[in-house]
Amino acid sequence: MTQIVVVEDDPRIASFLAKGLAAEGYVVSIASNEGEAISLVDFIGRDLSLVLLDLGLPGSDGLSLLSILRDRGIRAPVIIVTARQATTDKVAGLDAGATDYITKPFAFDEMLARIRAALRTPDQEVSNVLVVEDLHFDLSSKEIRRGDLQIELSPREWALLELFMRNPMQILSRVQILNRVWDYGFDPSSNIVDVYVGYLRRKLNRPGLTPLIHTVRGAGYRLLPRP
Ligand code: CA
Repeated sequence: MTQIVVVEDDPRIASFLAKGLAAEGYVVSIASNEGEAISLVDFIGRDLSLVLLDLGLPGSDGLSLLSILRDRGIRAPVIIVTARQATTDKVAGLDAGATDYITKPFAFDEMLARIRAALRTPDQEVSNVLVVEDLHFDLSSKEIRRGDLQIELSPREWALLELFMRNPMQILSRVQILNRVWDYGFDPSSNIVDVYVGYLRRKLNRPGLTPLIHTVRGAGYRLLPRP
């Protein structure tokens, strides 16, 4: 069980993170200020896996909270999540004991990748190639093939394809896709997901190949057809 504490005073961002992380199987608790965060971390104790830390908290600064946590012997990775973009802020955060730093607005998939990286122990092997049937996606070189056929995608299409390939049997709703591939500020009534799914289908599906990315009426999309 991976327990994540989200320290965030903006209820919209806190709930966005909590829902998205819970959908990935993480156990999430939210603290909206320094006092709550300290009580929560004390309560969870040794089961704490990771902290996502906003810097601008009511009445205190996330950096001072980070020092308090480190002084109390909390060694779990801490990822700072903040709108502060300046290099000096990043340096101060990392020097205060943060494991990583991500700026708002962020794409949820990047957040998930940073969490996986922060939780990975040094001896764990990282597979950089996703394979689903005849489709290969090398995440390092961004090389994508169906069989021997090379496929060129844009960065947004890479992110969309990665999401489908990590969940090949799962029906992904438009809202899930929007939250995971676009950042949280995006208008949920936009048809951008359908547009990009269309681009991806045109590039992946050629005559003679098994069609990928199926529409599940009223529910969303799925990479592979019903089993
Ligand atoms: Ca804040």
